Amino acid sequence: MNVQKKILEAIQTIVHKNSNEFIALHEPQFIGNEWLYIKECLDTGWVSSAGKYVDKFEDMLAEFTGVKRAIAVVNGAAALHIALKLGGVEKDDEVLVPAMTFVATANAVTYCGAIPHFIDSEEMTLGVDPHKLLSYLTDISEKREEGCYNLETGRRIKAVIPVHTFGHPVDIDPLIEVCKEYKIEMIEDAAESLGSYYKGNHTGNWGKLSILSFNGNKTITTGGGGAIMTNDETLGKLAKHLTSTAKIPHRWEYNHDHIGYNYRLPNINAALGCAQMEQLPKFLKQKRQLAERYQMAFQDIEGIKLFTEPPFARSNYWLNVLLLDTVIADKRDLVLEKTNCAGIMTRPAWTLMHQLSMFKDCPAMNLSCSESLAKRLINIPSSPFLVKNDA
Ligand SMILES: *Cc1c(COP(=O)(O)O)cnc(C)c1O
Repeated sequence: MNVQKKILEAIQTIVHKNSNEFIALHEPQFIGNEWLYIKECLDTGWVSSAGKYVDKFEDMLAEFTGVKRAIAVVNGAAALHIALKLGGVEKDDEVLVPAMTFVATANAVTYCGAIPHFIDSEEMTLGVDPHKLLSYLTDISEKREEGCYNLETGRRIKAVIPVHTFGHPVDIDPLIEVCKEYKIEMIEDAAESLGSYYKGNHTGNWGKLSILSFNGNKTITTGGGGAIMTNDETLGKLAKHLTSTAKIPHRWEYNHDHIGYNYRLPNINAALGCAQMEQLPKFLKQKRQLAERYQMAFQDIEGIKLFTEPPFARSNYWLNVLLLDTVIADKRDLVLEKTNCAGIMTRPAWTLMHQLSMFKDCPAMNLSCSESLAKRLINIPSSPFLVKNDA
C-alpha cells in the first residue's frame, strides 16, 4: 500500500466522518455560555469598545497565562504591531523573524518601518534555532553600547520574534542567553500557543511583550481578536492607552497625548472570549488526547512521524504536524491530494517568508532546516471535538 493511502486510513481510524462531511483543520465550537453572554451585550446595548466583558476577558487571560497584564485588541497582527513598537522597534531597525511563520509576523515588522531579517528553525521545536542564531550573530554582527548592529547592512538589530509554531514552544532559555549577550529584545508571537508551556510556565511570559490571536481557527476564538501581554506594568498601561486612541480619561473632554490606534476589541467579541475561556481547559484536554491517538495511529507507518513535544515543553497541539522523512518528501503532494479529495483537510507549511515577493530582498541567514521542513510538513485536522468521548 502506498504512503498516501496509509496516512489517509490512519487519519480515518481517528476522525470519523459522514460521507458528505468535510473535516477542517481547526474549527471553533460554541457549547458553553457564548449565546448567553452575547445576548446580554445585545440586550443591554454594550456591544462596542467598552464594557464589562473586555475587562473580564483581559483578567481571565492574565490569570490563565500567569502574565501580569493582558490587553485585548482587534487581532493578532495589531497586537504584534503595538508589541514591537513598545519593544522599542523603530524605523530602519531589523527584526529577526523565523522564515517559517504566518505572514502576520513579518508584516507587523514592516508596520513599524522596520525590516524583517529571516532566521532558521530547528526540527526539535519547529521554532527558532537559538544555537544557529548565536553563531550567525557572531559572524555578521557587532555588539556596541547601543545594541547589536548588522555589519553588512549597517542597521541595528533591535528585536527577535520567536513564534511558537503550531502551538509548540520554542527552546526559550538558550534564546534568552543570545538576547542578553547581543542586547536584543524578545517579543513572543504566542498567537498559536494559548495553553502551551515551557518548563512549567505559560508561553508569553519571557518576552518583553508577547501576543495572542483569537482568530476563528485558533484554540479559542472571539470571531477576530488578539491580545498584547506583558509582565511590565508600565508597558501594559501604555499598550492599553495606545490601542484605545491614546485618550486621556475624562468624563466629557476629548484629549489625546499620542498618535494612538483604535485597536480595541469590542465588548461583543470579548463576551465570546469569556465563554470560550471557560471551555479552554476542556479543549486542551481533548486536543492532547487527539494528539496521543494520532501518535498511536501513525507509529507503525514507515517514513513518517507525528511531531511530539520535547521534554521541556507541554504543547497545546494547536495543529498536529506530520513530518515525512526526507527520502519520501516527494510524496507530500500525493498525501495532500489524497486526503483533501477524501474530505479531510490537510495543508503544507506556509510558503516561507523569504520566498514571498514582498520579502525576497530582506536579509536572511542560511535557512536549510526551514527549507527542509517546509517540503516535508503536513498539518492534519486538530479540532478538539474530533475526540469522541465514547472512543
Ligand atoms: C494567527 C497568527 C497571528 C495573528 O493573526 P490574526 O489573524 O491577525 O489574529 C500572528 N502570528 C501567527 C504565527 C499566527 O498564527
